[in-house]
Amino acid sequence: MTTPAITPYVKDGIELDQIIVQGIRVTGFHGVYAPEKESGQLFLADVVAHVSTRTAADKDELARTVNYSDIADRTAEVLGGDPSDLLETVAEHIARAILEMEGVQAVDVVVHKPQAPLHVEFRDVMVKIRRDLRSGTLWAGKRIGSSAGGAGDPYSSGPREAEPADAEPIQPVTGYLGLGGNIGDVDATFREALWELHRIPGIEVRRVSSLFRTRPIGGPEQPDFLNAVIEVQTSLAPRALLAACQGIEVVHGRERHEPNGPRTLDLDLLAYGDVSLDEPDLVVPHPRAAERAFVLQPWATLAPDHVLPGGERIGDLAAEVGTDGVELVAARWPASPEPASPEPAAPQG
Ligand code: ADP
Ligand code: MG
Repeated sequence: MTTPAITPYVKDGIELDQIIVQGIRVTGFHGVYAPEKESGQLFLADVVAHVSTRTAADKDELARTVNYSDIADRTAEVLGGDPSDLLETVAEHIARAILEMEGVQAVDVVVHKPQAPLHVEFRDVMVKIRRDLRSGTLWAGKRIGSSAGGAGDPYSSGPREAEPADAEPIQPVTGYLGLGGNIGDVDATFREALWELHRIPGIEVRRVSSLFRTRPIGGPEQPDFLNAVIEVQTSLAPRALLAACQGIEVVHGRERHEPNGPRTLDLDLLAYGDVSLDEPDLVVPHPRAAERAFVLQPWATLAPDHVLPGGERIGDLAAEVGTDGVELVAARWPASPEPASPEPAAPQG
């Protein structure tokens, strides 16, 4: 049994690493003929998961997340599971199951049916597909079974998915939020905002940058700002995440009197995975983030190796923009036993 050659999957100019499981063998019941559905026959699958190690915290962690055994189990479950008429459908379902694994950017699936009921001698019948998170309909919170016939069904010619700003990710996405404020007890406001974000279903506050005091840029005469950046893991669509941020701004009395004016709390969506958006109400990555020292310096303490969709590394951007007008207040913030701890520290008092 031969397997077609594997073409590298290139993302942002970089060939992704591959995790390969070949020759997964299961008795299955797929086919258009009644005997196939009754007695079953041998099906095999080869799966190549293309994984992005660049965005993972470290490679070992990724290897634990995307493990061979999980790939094999998910594949075998589809191969031996609910009968489909077509091999294409089986391959499609396997692709979805693998794409749901965190860290997987794309997948190649080959399904073999070497005992197919043909009228001539043959060695193998196979169907080969490649799918990625963005190709077609998969960039949406669809699950196997729930999408049949719906907008996310690859065989449906129905209406397209919601626009990308409203599409829920198929896997949780890492996002970065920028916090700023210069009215009231800003440190306390930031702590409250962390908890308010964390309590929203679909948002998990993962890590917090150092805290900086920054000179206002533009606008009227006004006090210095405090700024920080936080890392969230979210299953919300980009626009829903922005709406959550704006809701928290409102709770803290954010009023918008003038551009660059004083505010109790400004919560900006700096980046959302490697998604780029240019909508009237939402531009991602945040259009001015890459120029602002008060965003880049805190961000660089949190995620210097994060790479924007345009290929720029946060640490490099921070070094370029410099530290003028930006002063470190607290390396560890909020007060927590570890810098960059996975959970925000409990509010004091
Ligand atoms: P700023 O943060 O630039 O001082 P505001 O917080 O008042 O200004 O935001 C003005 C508008 O910017 C908001 O109405 C919002 O819809 C829009 N916006 C566009 N992209 C983003 C983003 N990535 N994060 C936050 N707001 C954004
Ligand atoms: Mg804002």
